[in-house]
Amino acid sequence: MSDTIFSKIVRREIPADIVYENDDVLAFRDLNPQAPVHVLFIPKRAVATLNDAIATDAELLGKLLLASAEYARQQGFAEQGYRTVINCNDDGGQTVFHLHVHLLAGRRMTWPPG
Ligand code: 5GP
Repeated sequence: MSDTIFSKIVRREIPADIVYENDDVLAFRDLNPQAPVHVLFIPKRAVATLNDAIATDAELLGKLLLASAEYARQQGFAEQGYRTVINCNDDGGQTVFHLHVHLLAGRRMTWPPG
């Protein structure tokens, strides 16, 4: 897959407000936040879209969600609640083709989403 801005953030080639990191996952604040808390959780090993994930990526996908939940607990809003979103391709609204989980919190979310 081609390189994206998120791979450059992983390699520290461009700046980001990094808020969480472990061996497999990096998380940083979204440049254009849609909620008081809007953090992107990305795998350090890039997968372009959810469509490109295969069985051997199962653990990595789980780690992204577990990291999101751990961060929510650390920050103290886990019980109040939050939303996690993975956009896939055009109709899903994906604009950066390095799979990522949006973690949104700090306001009441609406459903259905727009
Ligand atoms: P997508 O639309 O692909 O699901 O989400 C991509 C997200 O990445 C968008 O919410 C957008 O604001 C964010 N974004 C795009 N470029 C950058 C960047 O260079 N730095 C940061 N921190 N966020 C970015």
